Amino acid sequence: GETNDGLEKLSVKEIGSKNLDVVAEFEKSGLKNAANFVVIGHVDHGKSTLMGRLLYDLNVVDKRSIDRLQREADTIGKSSFALAWVMDQTSEERNRGVTVDIAMNHFETSKTRFTILDAPGHQDFVPNMIAGASQADFAVLVIDAGTNSFESGLKGQTKEHALLVRSLGVQRLVVAVNKMDAANWLSERFEEIKQQMSAFLTNAGFHNKNVAFIPCSGLTGDNVARSVPQGTAPWYDGPTLVSALEAAEPAARALTAPLRITIADIFRGGIVHPLSISGRLEAGTLQVGDVVHAAPAGELARVSGLEVDDEAVDWAVAGQIATVHLSDIDGAQHLRLGDVLCSPQHPVPTVTKFTAKILSFEHVLPMQVSVLRGRVDAAGHVEALVATLDKSSGAVVKRKPKIVQPGAVARVRIRLDKGIPLEDGARVVLRVEGKTVAAGLVEVVDEVKKKAT
Ligand code: GDP
Repeated sequence: GETNDGLEKLSVKEIGSKNLDVVAEFEKSGLKNAANFVVIGHVDHGKSTLMGRLLYDLNVVDKRSIDRLQREADTIGKSSFALAWVMDQTSEERNRGVTVDIAMNHFETSKTRFTILDAPGHQDFVPNMIAGASQADFAVLVIDAGTNSFESGLKGQTKEHALLVRSLGVQRLVVAVNKMDAANWLSERFEEIKQQMSAFLTNAGFHNKNVAFIPCSGLTGDNVARSVPQGTAPWYDGPTLVSALEAAEPAARALTAPLRITIADIFRGGIVHPLSISGRLEAGTLQVGDVVHAAPAGELARVSGLEVDDEAVDWAVAGQIATVHLSDIDGAQHLRLGDVLCSPQHPVPTVTKFTAKILSFEHVLPMQVSVLRGRVDAAGHVEALVATLDKSSGAVVKRKPKIVQPGAVARVRIRLDKGIPLEDGARVVLRVEGKTVAAGLVEVVDEVKKKAT
């Protein structure tokens, strides 16, 4: 067929592949301790400040830069903003002026190399959070411990974000109970928040052992990278935020499964590399010289170069976020955000119909929805409510319900206007007019029938 001819054409070229046993290379590389995380939480609860503090205290940002940011912040009378600007600053420099949708910041402790996935300055935070969370090993949920702030966050985005990341497959959560300085480091306040959130998170499907609560202050830096000063919180003898991050180990890597990279960013028009993409390897391995299949375009491409953490590398493995330089691709203009690079032997099917097991946040009934998967936002509709399910056992409670109540788990049938690359086990979010109504797991996909040519 056409696909194989293309593959042969590509394989006769001089390619400079080192033909590495990537799994073996990875085993001996000592790269195991690397983790990606997203930062979520209600607006103003201190996400940017906390991450700025982390980067500053771990010496990712030099003193001169922070001094400059501090002077700028002082000039406009917002001294406390300096730390929050660190995140934007470092990612901007890193990307040399290229606009990206998902900004990445890296930092390292003696144990682990971390990547913070951040969606900077977007009006609607949720689609970008979904894109970020799809690439994350775990999430950091930032909660403002200040009077009334925690409570208003609960009505706001605190719960929505936690539910969303859980629905997207994130199992581990580090809850930063932030702004403890504003709560006078009161143990009662910390315990109150911990109790309320624990109950909610358990109900949302997080296991207790996978959730850590860490009191801290991004503004002062107490219990972020260093412990609380003596006397400030004598009741607390747990880890710092950084230690808690190190303890949140990344999920198992699907090294031997077929390659899957969902395209999170596309860079075109570079002089050395005319076409590059970046994204997380969800499964499999990749090396320079490999041929990949781009779905749904159905095009083959050669991997002419790879970068991980801004360094040129020979290979990349599941769990890493890589920049992939592509050559020999026809119809490169057809590549879009959310497309999937995959193994030519096992490409991802393009589907228009599927069943999903969802957790509903709002009422769900047969209706028009946007289906979000990674960066893809596809129009479609809920065609049928198959059954409501028991939350813990997954057993059928009621067949063909008329409506699914908020908080209930259900199996629904979805049809898309246009096919997207999708397979069993993918995580999708359903939204209506910018509001999240449900999220869940793709169970069965029906491949679009190949057009007869
Ligand atoms: P984001 O919207 O979640 O990213 O929140 P920001 O990091 O922009 O912080 C929102 C506001 O809270 C700013 O005025 C910060 O200076 C303030 N803030 C952030 N962290 C702390 C903290 O640990 N203690 C106190 N007292 N204020 C903080």
